[in-house]
Amino acid sequence: MILKTEGFILRAIKFRESDLILTVLSRDYGKISLIAKGARRTESKFGAALDLLTLSELVFYDAENLKLLKEASIIEDYRALKSDYERLTLALQSAYLLNQFVEEHHPDRAIFEFLKGFLEGLGSLKNLELAAVAMKLKLMRTLGIAPRLSTCARGGHRLTDEFWFSPQSGGLVCTTCHQAGDTRLSPRLAQNLKMILGLRWNRLDRLSLGEDEIALAHKILDEFISFHLKAPHMASK
Ligand SMILES: [Zn+2]
Repeated sequence: MILKTEGFILRAIKFRESDLILTVLSRDYGKISLIAKGARRTESKFGAALDLLTLSELVFYDAENLKLLKEASIIEDYRALKSDYERLTLALQSAYLLNQFVEEHHPDRAIFEFLKGFLEGLGSLKNLELAAVAMKLKLMRTLGIAPRLSTCARGGHRLTDEFWFSPQSGGLVCTTCHQAGDTRLSPRLAQNLKMILGLRWNRLDRLSLGEDEIALAHKILDEFISFHLKAPHMASK
């Protein structure tokens, strides 16, 4: 069967003499692996359509144990973004995280749209440290595992003026419930995390967080992400 879809190239591994095995986040079939024969030859018919993070139209032959790429043409190569080292690094990080969380053959249009929206928005964002925090938070939400930020994740209480964060409990924790090992957050940081989830990419630069707050936000989100990557129930959303 011949299928056609749009997809982002998340990863490419060398295969045989001149082939590639691509990991693609596709619009219609979720994450898939495609074999691209001859893709590493200089005169490959695929050209730059198989570059990392490029959005391409892909035509492939689909058999039970093999998906073979037939044609690929560039829809958007995000050239400006890729020529900026910091933006490229952040974009690659989002692709890496998605690849870790998303299982093959679970079509989810929202995940595809998340990456598309992020790559489109990233080009014009000024505060890239904040963009990195937002990428992690919004990605978690898209995957259906956003940290709980509006009520106490441990006991369901209303959050007042003191905040802790617990990856194991799944979000912010109140004064009554917090335990040793939870990370204390300033009210401003707790508030900003919540606001980030509600803001579109093009509004994100309205927020401002100090260096320490950004560093702390990364610490708790990275702990949250590794907690979920280790949890087996999360593998298949
Ligand atoms: Zn509580």
